[in-house]
Amino acid sequence: MQQERLLKVLVIGDLGVGKTSIIKRYVHQVFSQHYRATIGVDFALKVLHWDHKTVVRLQLWDIAGQERYGNMTRVYYREAVGALVVFDMTRLSTFQAILKWKGDLDSKVPDFQERERERERERGHLGSRPPFIDSMQVALSNGRPVPAVLLANKCDQRRNSLCPKLPKLENFSKEYGFVGWYETSAKDNTNIDAAITCLVKNIMSVE
Ligand code: GDP
Ligand code: MG
Repeated sequence: MQQERLLKVLVIGDLGVGKTSIIKRYVHQVFSQHYRATIGVDFALKVLHWDHKTVVRLQLWDIAGQERYGNMTRVYYREAVGALVVFDMTRLSTFQAILKWKGDLDSKVPDFQERERERERERGHLGSRPPFIDSMQVALSNGRPVPAVLLANKCDQRRNSLCPKLPKLENFSKEYGFVGWYETSAKDNTNIDAAITCLVKNIMSVE
């Protein structure tokens, strides 16, 4: 019997880094210089035949407008199981914003860990505990955060790349708890599939 999994994945990062372009490229195989700023929250769906018994319905959640303020409402984060955190390789400020976005993500998806513990309990790995201990654990938790992949987008713009100024992304991404990182181009279709597949693999391996 085939099972179906619905995965809500967030695409976050500063205005203009290419979030909408990445989603359009991945889902519709198109690229345009001119996307009107999405207003509010929008999502695109891609159906993946993951393996012989699993169909993944991947929801990619775009944001617009709100990314100006660098933090999103909890409603947007609710039930998310993964994220693509994007910066623009030609603009340093968007790289500096990465940690703010990662922090926002980790602090607003605490119910991710709550859900994980719920599942563990169902599997009988955890005994029942007084609720106050669980809430303490959420507060103190340095457990596994919601899986996130770091995307250095617009890698086609080599000339203007910040690369020499950036820390080594391999070390940076490990240090800050990303499950992977990729140099991507929505324009040239570089590594978009690879980055998203990496994220989905990671999500499927823990769920
Ligand atoms: P968002 O605000 O993060 O959703 O960014 P958009 O997807 O609207 O992209 C902002 C601008 O960057 C648009 O003009 C895009 O055409 C352009 N852009 C997005 N991705 C790439 C890329 O990989 N390479 C280049 N050269 N331009 C890109
Ligand atoms: Mg957009």
